[in-house]
Amino acid sequence: MKQLSLLLILLASMVAGAQKQAGPDAFAKSITADDLSRNLHIVAGKDMEGRETATDGQKKAAAFIENQFRSLGLLPGNKDGYQLYYPVYQDSLVNTAVEINGQLYELDKDFSVSVGQCNTSTYRFAEVVFVGNGLVDSTHDDYKGLDVRGKVVLMLAQAGQPGQGGGGNRFGNPRLDAAQKNGAIAVLTIAGNFPRTTKTNPKGNMYLSAFQKTVRPNQFTISEKMATAIMGADYANAKTGNIQSKVYTANVMLRFNKATTNLQSSDVMGLLEGTDLKDQYVFITAHYDHLGKRDTVIYYGADDDGSGTVSVLEMAQAFVKAKAAGKGPRRSIVFMTVSGEEKGLWGSGYYADHPVYPLDKTTVDLNIDMIGRIDATRKQGDSTNYVYVVGDDKLSSDLKPISETMNKKYTNLELDYKFNDAKDPNRIYFRSDHYNFAQKGVPIIFYYDGMLGADYHKPTDTPDKINYQLLAKRAQLVFYTAWEMANRDEMLKRDIILEKPRGF
Ligand SMILES: [Zn+2]
Repeated sequence: MKQLSLLLILLASMVAGAQKQAGPDAFAKSITADDLSRNLHIVAGKDMEGRETATDGQKKAAAFIENQFRSLGLLPGNKDGYQLYYPVYQDSLVNTAVEINGQLYELDKDFSVSVGQCNTSTYRFAEVVFVGNGLVDSTHDDYKGLDVRGKVVLMLAQAGQPGQGGGGNRFGNPRLDAAQKNGAIAVLTIAGNFPRTTKTNPKGNMYLSAFQKTVRPNQFTISEKMATAIMGADYANAKTGNIQSKVYTANVMLRFNKATTNLQSSDVMGLLEGTDLKDQYVFITAHYDHLGKRDTVIYYGADDDGSGTVSVLEMAQAFVKAKAAGKGPRRSIVFMTVSGEEKGLWGSGYYADHPVYPLDKTTVDLNIDMIGRIDATRKQGDSTNYVYVVGDDKLSSDLKPISETMNKKYTNLELDYKFNDAKDPNRIYFRSDHYNFAQKGVPIIFYYDGMLGADYHKPTDTPDKINYQLLAKRAQLVFYTAWEMANRDEMLKRDIILEKPRGF
C-alpha cells in the first residue's frame, strides 16, 4: 500500500511538472512516424480492400477508425454514435430488349445500354425521327422544324467518335441534353462497333440522390443493322450527311428494367470536448475512402488518403494526451474522416448539408488529402521538407498569420503556395472536401503533397512508398495550427468574401 501511494504521488508530481511547462510541442512529439506507419499498414492494407464507398472495405475501415476514436476516449461525434450515415444508391440491370418490326435484337450483339442512364420502362413507338448528329450549338440546330416531343429520336454517332454512345464525357452529354430539351423520351444512337467485345456491365455507378428534377431520355446505342431495319436504304445516304432529318414509320419496342439497391456509407466522427469555449468547434478532416478494387486488383490508396486518415488519428491521440495532462483545448475539436470523396465529395457534402454542430460556431476546417509523399515535379527547395498549403488567403485574414507563425515556431516546413494561385489550372481549392465547408463560410486550410504523378489513383499507391518522417512532420504542423485555433480567445474572423469558382 505504502509503496503504491508513493508511486501515485510521484506520478502526480510528474504530471504537474509536465503541466507547468507543457506547450503543444510536448504533445506533438507523440505524433510519430512509427504510429503512422503501423496504422497506415492497416488502413491501406489488403483487409480494407481499397475502401470503396458503400462496400465492405469502407465499412471495415469505418469500424477501425471508430474503434480508435473510442479507445482514445473521444466522445461519439454524431450525438450518440461515431458514424454519420448517408444513403447511396446503385442500379443493376434486370433485363433489356429492343424489337424493330417484330424482329428481336440482343444486348451486346446488336445494341448496348448504360445502366445508370436508363429508367425502367417499356416504350412502343410507331415512328422514329432521324435527327442527323442530334447537335444543337450556336451555329446550327439539328432539331430545327422538328417536333420530337414524346418521341424516339435516332442519331448518328458523333463524327470522329465511332461507337461513342451519345458522345458524353464527364462534363455531361450535350446530345442527350439537346434531345431532352426538345422533349424526346428515348434516344437511339447508331454505332459501328457491334457485336461488342466487352459485355455491358450490369452494375451502374453509385449515386447520391435518387430524386431528380427531370427524368433523362432512355438511351440505347444500336448497330448499323438495326439502323437499316428502321431507315432501309436511306441509312447509307444518311451516314454521308445526305439526309439531315426525316420521319420513318417503324414499330419499335424499347424495354429496360433495372433494380435499384439502397446502400449506405458514413463519415466517422469523434469529439474531444473543449473547456470554456466548448460550444465552438475546430474540425480536422480527411477522407478515408478510396477506389476499392477492380476484379482482384486492390487500389490501396496509401497516400490518397490513408495518409490523411492516420494523421487525423494521431492528432486525436495527441490532443487526448494534452487534455489528460490538463492542457485540453478550449474549443471542442471534431475529428472527422469522411467517405465518398472519390465519388464526388459526398461525405463532406452530406455533413455540410446536415451539420451536427453549428457551422457558424465552427471556427475552421483543417483538411488533409495526401501528405505522405514527395512531389517529383517540384524542383525548388528541399523536397524532404515542404507541404503545399491551400486556402489560407481566403475567407479569413487570420488563417495565414497563424499558420505561418506556428510553422516558424515549431515545424519549419517550406510552405508552398503554388496550388493557391488563382491561375493554377488544378483549382484545388474548389475540388476537395474542404470546399463543402468553405461554401458555407467556414474558413479552411488544405494540406497536400502535390503527388499527382506516378502512383496517383493506381494500385501501386502503397504504404511502402510513404515517407513517414515527412508525414509525421506535416501532421505536426496541422496539430500546432489546430492547437492555436482551438485555444486563442477569438474565433477566426470571417472577413474575406469567397470568389465564385470559374466554370462551375
Ligand atoms: Zn484523395
